[in-house]
Amino acid sequence: MSLEPSRMLAQKVQAMEESATIRMAQKSRDLAAKGVHVISLSLGEPDFDTPEFIKEAAYAALKKGYTKYTPVPGTLALRTAICEKFKNENNLHFEPGQIVVSNGAKQSIANICMATLNPGDEAIILAPYWVSYFEIVKFAGGVPVVVSAGIEDDFKPTAQQIKEAITHKTKLLIFSSPCNPTGSVFTKDELADIARVIAENGNILVVSDEIYEYINFTGHHASIGAFDHMRELTATVNGFSKGFSMTGWRLGYMAGPKWLADACNKVQGQITSGAASFSQEAAVTALKADRSEAMAMKEAFLRRRDLLISLMSKIPGLKLNKPQGAFYIFPDVSKYFGTSNGRVAINNADDFAEAMLTEAHVGLVSGSAFGADSCVRLSYAASDDDLREAVRRLANCLEGFK
Ligand code: PMP
Ligand code: GLU
Repeated sequence: MSLEPSRMLAQKVQAMEESATIRMAQKSRDLAAKGVHVISLSLGEPDFDTPEFIKEAAYAALKKGYTKYTPVPGTLALRTAICEKFKNENNLHFEPGQIVVSNGAKQSIANICMATLNPGDEAIILAPYWVSYFEIVKFAGGVPVVVSAGIEDDFKPTAQQIKEAITHKTKLLIFSSPCNPTGSVFTKDELADIARVIAENGNILVVSDEIYEYINFTGHHASIGAFDHMRELTATVNGFSKGFSMTGWRLGYMAGPKWLADACNKVQGQITSGAASFSQEAAVTALKADRSEAMAMKEAFLRRRDLLISLMSKIPGLKLNKPQGAFYIFPDVSKYFGTSNGRVAINNADDFAEAMLTEAHVGLVSGSAFGADSCVRLSYAASDDDLREAVRRLANCLEGFK
């Protein structure tokens, strides 16, 4: 006897798309398990190990007995260290009671959406957007409203576009800067324009995802919450996965108005409780140290960006821009739509990503998952050799598409 999944599964789950980044990474692994040499540029995960001093702090924490539950919003030591970090690096001023540490920034975003959205409430999402924003908003009962910009605008929607998308149902504005999947970085002036629109309205919370803060090649990271009139109107999300190369430690956080932190605390308290205790202890050490390891990783990413752009710009038909942060490039591949190599046809970005995996054995993610149907995402969190070989394969393969 077995249960009928279509009856058993909640409509919300049936309507949810699987994370395309995770799916493509898995497809690459599956092909590799069959003995194919796949170069996977699909998952957004730094290829560096966590810095040794952070690992040492976790070992020490375990030895000291940090093996128990922590307070739901995180240990006071970590929330205090986060407040210091915000003050010193971002000109953001919070009390520990305004911070909620979670099992990754993904959970921080989910907490915020679950804490704020009623059925039918709208969340404006700037596109290209990180895959999970759209699905989290839907899952929380909200309606995603996508505001897009193409490669010719450096993938950055304007304040005016945002203004035009606002309705009386708008509750959230969600975006990342530096951006996943485009690597675009909003300047302070661009953020000031957006802040003006939000402050004029006065009924919208900005969810500013700054998880790529340290991987910023412009030399300056600006936080929208740092504008005076934005303090009460912004939830700043950050985490340890990218800048400290701690993806597996599952640690992210949000900071915002007290009412929001309290609500996130309540949601998290019923769903997962506090994040791992020894991860939190190690994170205190990470935040209190200087940023030399993070900056060394950033330099490596910058070098790889330049390598990848110089190699990829030789492939005919790809439109590229110059990302200013994160570790992705997001070429427009629409010139290849309507072509075939005799075995497979490319009619959209999904086909392009699929063809590059099966024909060139390079894993990419289709832009459709990020709200950009003409593009694909490549992560350059990979070795120079892998990047060179991946581009060689892509170029060879694409030559066959007419
Ligand atoms: N936001 C963005 C823009 C991301 O790219 C990621 C990547 N995983 C996350 C949030 C979530 O990170 P984590 O849950 O590992 O902290
Ligand atoms: N954020 C990363 C990415 O975009 C990790 C995968 C995920 O969490 O979706 O690839």
